[in-house]
Amino acid sequence: MMMAEGKKSGFRGINIPSDELLNNCIHCGLCLPTCPTYSLTGLEKSSPRGRIRIIKGVAEGTLSISREFVYEMNFCLDCQACETSCPAGIKYGSLVEAARAQIYQEKYEGRLAHYSKKILLGWLFESHGRLKRAARILRLIQTSYIQSLIGIGKEFRVFPRKISNSNSLAPKISKSYSSDTLHESITPNIHSRYKVILLTGCVMDVAFADINEDTVQLLLHHGCEVIVPREQQCCGSLQAHNGDIASARRLAQHNTELFSRYDFDYIVMNSAGCGAYMKEYGEIFRDDTRFAEKANSISKRVRDLTEFLNDTGFHPALNRNENPFFGKKVTYHDACHLVHAQHISEQPRKLIKSIAGIEYIELRESTWCCGSAGIYNITHYNDSMQILRRKIDNIKQAGPDIVITGNPGCLIQILHGLNQEKMHIELLHTATFLRRACGV
Ligand code: SF4
Ligand code: SF4
Repeated sequence: MMMAEGKKSGFRGINIPSDELLNNCIHCGLCLPTCPTYSLTGLEKSSPRGRIRIIKGVAEGTLSISREFVYEMNFCLDCQACETSCPAGIKYGSLVEAARAQIYQEKYEGRLAHYSKKILLGWLFESHGRLKRAARILRLIQTSYIQSLIGIGKEFRVFPRKISNSNSLAPKISKSYSSDTLHESITPNIHSRYKVILLTGCVMDVAFADINEDTVQLLLHHGCEVIVPREQQCCGSLQAHNGDIASARRLAQHNTELFSRYDFDYIVMNSAGCGAYMKEYGEIFRDDTRFAEKANSISKRVRDLTEFLNDTGFHPALNRNENPFFGKKVTYHDACHLVHAQHISEQPRKLIKSIAGIEYIELRESTWCCGSAGIYNITHYNDSMQILRRKIDNIKQAGPDIVITGNPGCLIQILHGLNQEKMHIELLHTATFLRRACGV
């Protein structure tokens, strides 16, 4: 593959995946039909196999880091569907993240993109206090007449398209945040079987505080003492997926130090991306002799909520007549970083199906990305909307009353698609569905 003329070649100062990882691709092409960007373009360079080839070329210094290289690395959703389909066990996610780290570090995207990311991911998301203050301002806008003006402006195309799109896809900020409303230690009324830390998250805390509350109530119902460490920060996944490795490491280190001070059995989370990344803390610090053991001990105890509930024998214990979902048709969308990154697909389905009286229907292509992918739906709005269309078409074909999923990004993206199509289908996080079904 020819790459356009670009800057210097090779990865420098980045923890590039091993040669073995790069060389293991047997070019079988089994990953191609599972790749959303390949399905959009039909081009080899936009496929996992094509990208691996150019990453290898750059790592070995035979290709330069060109504009085309930067484009392809950012065009990828990092959905990791290719990892699931790969018979050679290629860890594609770590390859693309290393490439993005190189791009970020050397400012190959251009100064505007670089510094926008630095402000958003580093400055804003690296301090949860700052993020909360910014969220308060956003809520003021969302609940004031400015929001209606933006809506009118969108109709008449007054604002640049990126601003209008970001506004439609911005999560609705909660009235109060779970990091303020939840106590640091919450004990169940029944005998406590497990001590769990809840990661309240960044976006989850400020925009999905109700889902964090649902999660706590379910955990209490399941006999857990819930610890909500006060100074927890964003897990670092958003930064790592977008190349800002230094910020990601600082956040991972902070959370590891903080959580290690508590006595607990598991760290439970309700956001797929956070769970996938925190399970990697041990790997991230594997060469840091001072810190590796601590990080590894944290990673080993990270569980997605559905994984934890299912594996520890959760029983909904509900009264059939009280089940608000009785007679409803329910389906489930797999968040990429649950199904592909953590291989969690059976657990949420088992829990949903355990609710008596519902009709569970499988969603066609449930593991196909919805196009959310962190900030991808803002940075690649048109591509993201094309990918979303396929998801919405599949939902239409299934005809459910309720769609359930386990990740905030998917909730925002699918809601956007349902609203655009004026489809009156309830969209719920798994925690909310289970809590309401159990009446707790
Ligand atoms: S991570 Fe997703 S979008 Fe990227 S190459 Fe793999 S399947 Fe394609
Ligand atoms: S499925 Fe794996 S081995 Fe086959 S082409 Fe894709 S990345 Fe390479």
